[in-house]
Amino acid sequence: FNVPVAVNEPVMAYAPGSAERKAVAEAYKSMYNSKVEVPMYINGKDVKTGNTRTMSPPHDHQHIVGEYHLAEKQHVEEAISTALEARKSWSQLPWEQRAGIFLKAAELIAGPYRAKINAATMIAQSKTIHQAEIDAACELIDFLRFNVQFMTDIYMEQPESTSDAWNRVEYRPLEGFTYAVTPFNFTAIAGNLPACMALMGNVVVWKPSNNQIYSAKVIMDVFKEAGVPAGVINVVFGNPGMITDTVMASPDFSGLHYTGSTPVFQNLWKQIGNNIANYKTYPRIVGETGGKDFIVAHKTAVAKQVATAISRGAFEFQGQKCSAASRAYIPNNLWDDVKKFVIEDVKSFKQGSPEDMSNFVTAVINEGSFDKLARYIDEAKSASDAEIIVGGGYDKSKGYFIEPTVIVTTNPKYDTMCTELFGPIITIYVYEEDQFTETLKLVDETSEYALTGAILATCRYAIEEATKALQNAAGNFYINDKPTGAVVGQQPFGGARASGTNDKAGSAQNLMRWVSPRLIKETF
Ligand code: GLU
Repeated sequence: FNVPVAVNEPVMAYAPGSAERKAVAEAYKSMYNSKVEVPMYINGKDVKTGNTRTMSPPHDHQHIVGEYHLAEKQHVEEAISTALEARKSWSQLPWEQRAGIFLKAAELIAGPYRAKINAATMIAQSKTIHQAEIDAACELIDFLRFNVQFMTDIYMEQPESTSDAWNRVEYRPLEGFTYAVTPFNFTAIAGNLPACMALMGNVVVWKPSNNQIYSAKVIMDVFKEAGVPAGVINVVFGNPGMITDTVMASPDFSGLHYTGSTPVFQNLWKQIGNNIANYKTYPRIVGETGGKDFIVAHKTAVAKQVATAISRGAFEFQGQKCSAASRAYIPNNLWDDVKKFVIEDVKSFKQGSPEDMSNFVTAVINEGSFDKLARYIDEAKSASDAEIIVGGGYDKSKGYFIEPTVIVTTNPKYDTMCTELFGPIITIYVYEEDQFTETLKLVDETSEYALTGAILATCRYAIEEATKALQNAAGNFYINDKPTGAVVGQQPFGGARASGTNDKAGSAQNLMRWVSPRLIKETF
């Protein structure tokens, strides 16, 4: 298979005075100060229903940047029927043509759309430019490029043959249509979930998060310009319950590609189970859900390195990564230094609008999230077994701003040591330095989720012990690093237990779920 060698897109620095910084600042300004109308996209056409909802940035919730159109049931049904119609030609297209379209999409984002997709992500999801760049630009480009390589790896996997019997595997797309439900927190995930299914020859109904419409629109613009044919990827916005009910009522529903919360994923799974006898084929179910990701430091770790893992792992993008560090276990011999460095770091973080590119933290996604986080902060303020050592402030008068907050608890099962918060709060438990083995056991026992985790140590034995003891507590395990920032093609990403089906994003294993192989034996 002759395809371009996939390489990771270099991350741009956006240094003051640089051309890229100027370009993104201009894009942000013009998008922020105008009003965009976002139609749905069904059968290659913009669909406006007149039933609209406004869009506002989380860091400036009274400011309106546009409105988007919401689906009625008939629009979802139309998306399904046009997808099935488009499947007739799309599924038969030579793979090179599908690959060419998505490689073109990658180059459009790398070039003419880069500033726009980053600015949309800064406005819709309140990412800083640096967080937008590693997500909406680089990670999405990487997914699109590497998927083509993964696809050819899959197609090359063929059985043995003999001179009188030729065995071959045809990697057919799923029969029917697929459903992508994508989260607000990564523009890259929003783009990759529909794109990777379509690349494998499937047709898609895509429901982006209502908190991410602006960047979803730019993704769709890119797909259109790259040449994704009408009906192959159809975008519907609006009431998730209604959209899902309509999708899952179709006998042709053949796969769910989901990233989002655990309870929603469990409900989707149940719904599929309840309908199972109605489907023509067993639907594939792939989900990446929550996390309660840990950092464990051993007594031999370097305090400064531990503090950096905490402050970067917990507070980049306001802790709204599934992979974000949200609990840490620190030995008492390191605690004074780690505490000092973490407080120093957090106090140096500027917070405000992403428009000011010197800000490190911005706002959380919406009022529901803000209120929940504020409640946990208040509880910690009055708890007898917890103390806030830095942060603890919040203010929603202009935007949904929660200060990066570090809670220290004497109770290893304190609520915020176990419950996923999805915000800029980390809880730390300080353990006796000679209780490392017991602490590892505790971490595993309290890992209802198992997405990411990190061990920091200089002692090789401690690293080996933690790697073994925490074998099932994380799908992505980091040694001497923060638990966030997986790179496509380098660290395939996903976890098990309540964190998902662990069909690693950014791997051939994930793309395998979107094909249904047919073995053909021909005798001569
Ligand atoms: N892949 C991302 C990371 O490694 C996290 C993805 C997510 O939040 O779903 O940080």
